[in-house]
Amino acid sequence: MIHPPDQPTALHAGGDNSIAFLIGVTADEWTLLILRHALQGVDSFDQWLELLPISPPVLSGRLRRMAELGIVAVSGDTYPLTRRGAALWPMIVTLAGWEKVWGDDHVEPLPRLRHLRCGADFTPLMACGACGEVAAARDVVGEFGPSGSWPRSAPSAATRRPAGGSANLGPSFFPQSRALIGNRWAAAMLSAAYLGATRFSQFHRQVGAPATVIADRLRVFREVGVLHAEGDQDRADRATFRLTDKGRAFFPVVMSGVEWSQRWYVAPEGPALEFQHRDHRFWMLLLCAECEKPLAGRDIEVG
Ligand SMILES: [Zn+2]
Ligand SMILES: [Zn+2]
Repeated sequence: MIHPPDQPTALHAGGDNSIAFLIGVTADEWTLLILRHALQGVDSFDQWLELLPISPPVLSGRLRRMAELGIVAVSGDTYPLTRRGAALWPMIVTLAGWEKVWGDDHVEPLPRLRHLRCGADFTPLMACGACGEVAAARDVVGEFGPSGSWPRSAPSAATRRPAGGSANLGPSFFPQSRALIGNRWAAAMLSAAYLGATRFSQFHRQVGAPATVIADRLRVFREVGVLHAEGDQDRADRATFRLTDKGRAFFPVVMSGVEWSQRWYVAPEGPALEFQHRDHRFWMLLLCAECEKPLAGRDIEVG
């Protein structure tokens, strides 16, 4: 499959959908950390090596994978972001914004987000692109579209990141986000929660992971405080798991990723996920919480 950097990939009918690509690409802490620095202008192998506690083979594996997927170009020892790669800025900006508001254990400083149009350090605010209103996660309802189904949304061997070398940095740049989207099962579990799963059996059936993995993720999500349990607290199979405010506040990160993947990895049947806001189709507009103007990638400085 060819992933031209400046135009969308045409996916095969019936194969992995855009969500599988999203999870395959971004549900990996190293890739997110590489991207975070790339958006600040880092594009050389040695610079990443200096900035991140990553080994050369792991870094080169990640960059090779990102190049295959059209996210970076390869030019000698430099790997500049392509248009496809640069279009991931909303995901990194919403991730950093969520960590700033909800995270509390940063050893490394978070990236500082500055809006060049108003000059302020900002956090992003989600709005509905169709009607322009600021939208809370609970106002946006998602469901599977024509290419959406759980089996097609799970990354296959072809979509998944290279095995091994998973980041284990202790408290890091995105310490809490890592628990939510740092691996594919976590990302799939979180997506299931946004699509309405509340019971152990629903997570189990939809995500398709072993029961021990589901139980472990539910425990971690409760520890991080993005889900809380109602009912029989000691019996995961009887409890009802609901998103907390903190959990719902992470929705713009997932939405950013979903929009990116549906723009760049296009299934012939149509989108994998569709979202409604009130009576209309939702697409996400990010505003600067300080000046309330729409954010554009070129107007943001990640420092
Ligand atoms: Zn709207
Ligand atoms: Zn602003």
